[in-house]
Amino acid sequence: MLGLLKKYNMTKKQSRRREALVYHAKPQPGKIKIVPTKPYTTQRDLSLAYSPGVAEPCLEIHKDTKNVYKYTAKGNLVAVISNGTAVLGLGDIGPEAAKPVMEGKGLLFKIFADIDGIDIELDTKDVDKFVETVKTIAPTFGGINLEDIKAPEAFEIERRLKEELDIPVMHDDQHGTAIISAAALLNAVEIAGKKMEEIKIVISGAGAAAVSCTRLYKAFGANGDNIVMLDSKGVIRKDRENLTAEKLEFATDRKIDTLEEAMVDADVFIGLSVADIVSPEMLTSMVENPIVFAMANPNPEIDYDLAVATRKDIIMATGRSDHPNQVNNVLGFPFIFRGALDVKATKINEEMKMAAVKALAELAKEPVPEQVNIAYGETRMTFSRDYIIPKPFDPRLIAKIPPAVAKAAMESGVATDEITDWEKYEEELLE
Ligand code: NAP
Ligand code: MG
Repeated sequence: MLGLLKKYNMTKKQSRRREALVYHAKPQPGKIKIVPTKPYTTQRDLSLAYSPGVAEPCLEIHKDTKNVYKYTAKGNLVAVISNGTAVLGLGDIGPEAAKPVMEGKGLLFKIFADIDGIDIELDTKDVDKFVETVKTIAPTFGGINLEDIKAPEAFEIERRLKEELDIPVMHDDQHGTAIISAAALLNAVEIAGKKMEEIKIVISGAGAAAVSCTRLYKAFGANGDNIVMLDSKGVIRKDRENLTAEKLEFATDRKIDTLEEAMVDADVFIGLSVADIVSPEMLTSMVENPIVFAMANPNPEIDYDLAVATRKDIIMATGRSDHPNQVNNVLGFPFIFRGALDVKATKINEEMKMAAVKALAELAKEPVPEQVNIAYGETRMTFSRDYIIPKPFDPRLIAKIPPAVAKAAMESGVATDEITDWEKYEEELLE
C-alpha cells in the first residue's frame, strides 16, 4: 500500500515537472516578448518609427532629459535584475538558471499592473560591479526591481542604488514580503485582540526577508525589546561574536539560545528561514490566539495542517497558495511600482511602503466581491482568521494600492509629477 502511494506521488511529481517544462518551452521558449505599440505597416510609419523621424524626439530629449518620459517607453519599463545568488528556495544557481524566475516576474508585472518588466541577469557576485552595472543601464528604465540576490550583499546593493539613482529601486525579497506580511500582521493582531506595541515576536531567519520585515513591523509599533530573532546558529544574542550590522540591530539581551525557549509565551512567530523547525509542542507553549506566519518556501516552518490541528485558536499564514492567508509578493510589487511610476517618483520610500501596507490591510476588511469568491472557489470570504489579506486576483488591488502609494510619494516629496484627479486615475487603473 505504502509502495503504491509512493509510486503515485512520484508520478504526480513527474507529471508536474513535465507540465512546467512544456509550459516554458512551447509554443515558443520563455514567457514574455516585446510588441510594437505604434503603427508599422507603411513606409511613412517606418520613417517615423526610425530614421529620419526618430531624430525629432532624440533632439527634444537631448534638450531636456525629462522628455524621455514623454517620447519613450522608459516610464512604464521596470528592470527585474538578479545575479541568481538566492533564487526562490533553490539558492545560488547562477544568472542563467535565474532567468525563468525573472521572466516570471515580468509576466506578473504585466498582467497585474500593465508594467513592462524586462529581466536582466548579471554575471557577477561583486557588489561594486553589480552596482556599477545597474547604474550604467539605469537611463533605460523607469524603475529597478532587484530580485533574488543573496544577503548581506543585497542590503548594500539596494542601499547604494537607492542613494545613487533617481528612479525607484526596490529589492522585492526584502520589502515585498515585509509589506504583505505587515498588512497581514496588523490584521491578525486586531483579530487576536492584541496591540502591536505589546506583542512578543519570534523571528526565525535573519536574512534579506526577515530583517526587512522586522524593521517594518517596528515602524508599525512593534517594540524592539519584545523581539527575539534567530538564525541558523540559534538566538541572536548581543553577546554573540561576529554579528553583522543587520543581526546586531535585532540582537536580544535575553539569555536564551534556542527556538524552543524563545517560543514560550510568544504572541507571534514569523518564519523566514527553513522548513519544519517548529514543533507542535512549541505552538502549544505560545499564548492564546497565537499568530504564526510560517513563510519558508516551498515548505513552511511547520506544516499548515499540523499547525491548525495543534492550535484551534491559531491565526496562520504561509507562502503557499494551497492554504488560506498566502503571503504572496504579487500583492505588492506590481501595484507599488505602478503608483511610483505614475507620479515619476525618485524613490520608493518608507512612507510609500507604509501606505501600501495600510491600503492592503484595509482592503481585507471590505466585503469581498463575488467574482473573487468564484475565482478561488469560495462561497463567502470575509475578514476573519482565515482571511487576513486580500487575494492576488482581487480586481480592487489595482484601484486601491497604486493611488495610496502615489499619494504617499507626493506627500513625502519624492514625486516629480502629480496626480490631481484621483477618481479619473482610479478609472484609468481599472481599464
Ligand atoms: P536568506 O537571505 O538566505 O536568509 C535565510 C535565513 O534563514 C538566514 O538568516 C539563515 O541563517 C536562516 N536560517 C537557516 N536555517 C535556519 C534555522 N534552522 N533556524 C533559523 N534560521 C535559519 O533568505 P530570504 O530571502 O530571507 O528567505 C528566507 C526564507 O523565506 C526562504 O525560505 C524564502 O523562500 C522565504 N520567503 C518567503 C516569502 C513569502 O512567503 N512571500 C518571501 C520571501 C522569502 P544564517 O544567517 O545563519 O545563514
Ligand atoms: Mg524573489
